[in-house]
Amino acid sequence: MSERTRIGTTVLGYPRIGPDRELKRALEGYWSGRIDEAELHRTARGLRQDTWRELAEAGLNSIPSNTFSYYDHVLDTAALFGALPRRVTELGLSTTDTYFAAARGARGAQPLEMTKWFDTNYHYLVPELGPDTTFTVAGSKPLDEYREARALGYETRPVLVGPLTFLLLSKAAEGVPQDFDPLRLLEPLLRAYADLLRTLHDEGVQWVQLDEPAFAADRTQDELDALARSYEALGELTERPGLLVAGYFGNLGPALGTLARSPVDALAVDLVSDPSAVDYLAAEKGVQDKEVLAGVVDGRNIWRTDVDTALSKAATLLGTARHVGVSTSCSLLHVPYDVEFETGLDDRLRGWLAFARQKLGEVVLLGRALHEGTGAVGEQLGTARAAVRARAAATDLREPGVRARLDALRPEHTRRGGYADRATAQHASLRLPELPSTTIGSFPQTGDIRRTRAAYRAGRIGSEEYRQAMRAEIERVIRLQEDIGLDVLVHGEPERNDMVQYFAEQLDGFAATEHGWVQSYGSRCVRPPVLYGDVSRPRPMTVEWAGFAQSLTDKPVKGMLTAPVTILAWSFVRDDQPLADTARQVALAIRDEVRDLESAGIRVIQVDEPALRELLPLRSSEHKAYFDWAVESFRLATSGISDATQIHTHMCYSEFGDILPAIEAIDADVTSIEAARSRMEVLDDLGAAGFTRGVGPGVYDIHSPQVPDVDEVAEQLRRALRAVPADRMWVNPDCGLKTRGYAEVEPALRNLVAAARRVRAER
Ligand code: GLN
Ligand code: ZN
Repeated sequence: MSERTRIGTTVLGYPRIGPDRELKRALEGYWSGRIDEAELHRTARGLRQDTWRELAEAGLNSIPSNTFSYYDHVLDTAALFGALPRRVTELGLSTTDTYFAAARGARGAQPLEMTKWFDTNYHYLVPELGPDTTFTVAGSKPLDEYREARALGYETRPVLVGPLTFLLLSKAAEGVPQDFDPLRLLEPLLRAYADLLRTLHDEGVQWVQLDEPAFAADRTQDELDALARSYEALGELTERPGLLVAGYFGNLGPALGTLARSPVDALAVDLVSDPSAVDYLAAEKGVQDKEVLAGVVDGRNIWRTDVDTALSKAATLLGTARHVGVSTSCSLLHVPYDVEFETGLDDRLRGWLAFARQKLGEVVLLGRALHEGTGAVGEQLGTARAAVRARAAATDLREPGVRARLDALRPEHTRRGGYADRATAQHASLRLPELPSTTIGSFPQTGDIRRTRAAYRAGRIGSEEYRQAMRAEIERVIRLQEDIGLDVLVHGEPERNDMVQYFAEQLDGFAATEHGWVQSYGSRCVRPPVLYGDVSRPRPMTVEWAGFAQSLTDKPVKGMLTAPVTILAWSFVRDDQPLADTARQVALAIRDEVRDLESAGIRVIQVDEPALRELLPLRSSEHKAYFDWAVESFRLATSGISDATQIHTHMCYSEFGDILPAIEAIDADVTSIEAARSRMEVLDDLGAAGFTRGVGPGVYDIHSPQVPDVDEVAEQLRRALRAVPADRMWVNPDCGLKTRGYAEVEPALRNLVAAARRVRAER
């Protein structure tokens, strides 16, 4: 085994949606019946081939395969081992359609639940397992892709989700006791992995990569023991390829020691998110006969690598490991393809950025510098250094005005009057009935609205025409809400493409990309803005629309903003200062907007913070520090106003778990949350955690096209009233309505208002 070739330079994974989102179009074409299965597969093959060619031409020593996916790599793993739920397999569809049925539902069969891949913006499908689950190597995707690459002349390294991470990301299937522990299935799953490894070995595969990011989060001793047992067992197989175990998204902590002592051949560590893995490894004798891949090129952010820092991190491993390779910190799935496509970006900024293609070059460069000496690649290192230095020296990224404001911040800038006083002042100002009804902000974005926005962007219509069109839409939405009888109205957000991008486009310190798409899930991509400098607000961003809406009605119109953590979570953020400092800058800009809304006569302002949970660190030991700055940034944004102005926030998930204390601490007057699917259970959690502010549990699920009837909504309300007193409770849908059509929205809101009235009358 010691004769195995080295991995050397590599990446842990690569984007797969296509440089021009070819896969997205092919998938959506296939789902809608516009293209057939053969054409879908042809597109996919083309993308895989292009990827391998690109990785080979960049000069990587080892090229990953099986990083392609038609939808999601966790779903691929479940399909590979024959662990798709019966409700999907028994539909009798083709292999391809069974897979898509698991991803998206079909013929009444629910899809798998989707959830976030660790603390990234990628979402995976949650496998459903139970005591009856059996694993076999039911599919051949890794083998097929390996063969496909080899036929093209590329020797590749199949990448698989590791067995522990697979089980730890799974949940108990429906009908199985919810405390069923998927780890009970470890032994049969390991047998299936062993079968697969044997097959790959027989095929001539040299290396397989097993991803175990689950160990970057807190794990129990049982889970750590299971990790030890698993890699002991897999390592001891005689007929197997070399095993590379990759841990990323943080320091693997004790799991790293476990892996170091196991008979696997190579480890990949994420030295971007936590350089201290180096010290852990240095203390482990077992590392001496292993190859270690130093993950020094950031797989999740888009800045050029500081080559000197990266080299010194990798170099500290030189005495520790048998061989040191260079890699990305994690898969490049989380960054866009190529910064060279961004012709609209300022040249200087573009020169500071590295997307996936540029990162390949960085990995290769660092690998050569490490093993051939810096002299061998002096010129390229010089160019890389110059870019990083130029960015560090760019004085105009620092705005003295912003810095001065930050320095002048005092605790009173994050404090409002007491909640009881505020409630009294707001009651006097707003004069709302008990159980006031409202919505979360957006109304359906019709084809007309989207076309008008697109025409304005493309310059086909002028700003006056655009303004009139938006005003007409706002007026229509206000009249509709009045007619329906809602108590607190919204302007409907027709001018917004996206709740973060809309603000990023108007704030200084942000740049938008044209082609910087990143897969969010399946065929869905997002284009995060780049936050590169100090953030400030040159002019009001929403006041004109909100003020116009308020001028049309006597009912209060709720202003609509996005909160700092969510803006950061859905952007590529600068890496040259702590996130907390960046959050404070964004908070100051939002604070100015909140004040201007108040001055324009807006008495209720919602500041959406749906991503508060997304940035929660994977390790609980880091939670407190996170909450400190996350909570502070929300309070900074929302405390510059009078007690009589009511602050709402919205969070779209129903399991708060670790973030419950933060919901109270951000001190919003009203928090609207997703609650319909959990049938209001979330309110008990909130109550138990001592939540004392206003709350708007979503009374119907906007993700479903079904129109809830009055009885149903009234029943949800009565249920909610068992947990929350009526004088603190609001009535609203689960989330914004922009993805729905009026055919559902209008009757649903009418029923919501009727239910609120009925339950009010019962009291
Ligand atoms: N105000 C936003 C909307 O209604 C909130 C979106 C969200 O919760 N993600 O669309
Ligand atoms: Zn929402």
